[in-house]
Amino acid sequence: MMSLLKSIHSGKEYSLDEVRFTADDGELLDVVHDFEQVKQQYKISKEYFAKKRSQINGQPSGGVWHFKELVMPEINDDYIISKQEGNTRLYRSKKISSWLGLSAERFYLKHEGENPTGSFKDRGMTVAITIAKYLKQQAVTCASTGNTSASLAAYASEAELPGIVLIPKGSVAVGKISQALAYGTKTLVVNGDFDDCMRMIQEAQEKLSAYPLNSINPFRLEGQKTIIWEILLQLGWKVPDWFIFPGGNLGNTSAFGKALFEAYQLELIDRMPRFAVIQAEGASPFYKAYKNNFLELKKEKAETIATAIKIGAPVNYPKAVRALKWTNGIVEAVSDEEILEAKAIVDSAGIGAEPASCATVAGLKKLIGKGEIKSKDTVVGILTGNILKDPQCIVDYHFNKTTPLANAPHSIEASIDELKRFL
Ligand SMILES: *Cc1c(COP(=O)(O)O)cnc(C)c1O
Repeated sequence: MMSLLKSIHSGKEYSLDEVRFTADDGELLDVVHDFEQVKQQYKISKEYFAKKRSQINGQPSGGVWHFKELVMPEINDDYIISKQEGNTRLYRSKKISSWLGLSAERFYLKHEGENPTGSFKDRGMTVAITIAKYLKQQAVTCASTGNTSASLAAYASEAELPGIVLIPKGSVAVGKISQALAYGTKTLVVNGDFDDCMRMIQEAQEKLSAYPLNSINPFRLEGQKTIIWEILLQLGWKVPDWFIFPGGNLGNTSAFGKALFEAYQLELIDRMPRFAVIQAEGASPFYKAYKNNFLELKKEKAETIATAIKIGAPVNYPKAVRALKWTNGIVEAVSDEEILEAKAIVDSAGIGAEPASCATVAGLKKLIGKGEIKSKDTVVGILTGNILKDPQCIVDYHFNKTTPLANAPHSIEASIDELKRFL
């Protein structure tokens, strides 16, 4: 086999054919591939991925399966459940750059909200649900702040697998819960928070054999690696100075670190960029651990308007710490007010994203203010979710006359004179 599971701590190895999510000692698992063997079989290089025209089951493949050799080299195409996820746009914006004080030529926003169900979760989902099929699993589950459940629901439907999603009561945006309902998955609203849901999912795996598709599932992270490779491909493999993105359960932090570590091993890049991970102040256990030299992770009760990162006990913490070490990374925290202001800017630039995604831009503003990120640096920010995921947040912001960038609607009579007042 070219791929196996390996404990990130002890290095103990397990077969890919085993259904498991942690090592015997409870530590997290990596999916590792034998890149020497992969390189013998395929001529992996920058040009290889630039020239390659990939297809899965007769369809042009998305950004994830374009990198199949480095994601899941041996899986038979018959198992693959794909919606051509990935191939998302890399935007530039004069408006956002000038608000930040960055050069418009050196600032990019990768919009992962332009995936099939509106978030980057689809990139991990295509790989993990493919493995669920390969392992002949009978049902799939997840705990979700919303986007994972939306993604699971769509992919489970395509794979014809029953799905059950657990969402915390009162903490999921309307766009997301409506997707889970519409795609037809069983949706259970738990009287508890995300961290309670996550604990139940881990128990359900052990006691009820339901296959979890959370980012504890190491195959999810294999798909999410491709966000970084796709950006590098879009930039002609020129490494930016910074990647900046939000951190909740820290799946992306972990996956992005692995993507760069592997790209360096494969000589696709010749230097490591730096990471800046942004948390919401009310849900910032990773930020606090970073400030304390990663001596310990203290779980907390999370509270923030950015529901996608409202997580107090991130399951991927050890992998995220490793990723920050690889990338000489930093962590910052921003208030809900800062997130909402950044969101108003991102939205008014005609790009738009959900609140958690805009923590990226709020954090960037703060780090530029502190001089940690310089105006001459090349920066790629990642927008993780679509603007339409959380319409309530937008309406609340713009109807509130006291918010700084409010754009409330006006009521007029049906006459051209009234209209004239606004032109
Ligand atoms: C899941 C999610 C996050 C958090 O990502 P992690 O990998 O758990 O840190 C951030 N933003 C959006 C929109 C999400 O759906």
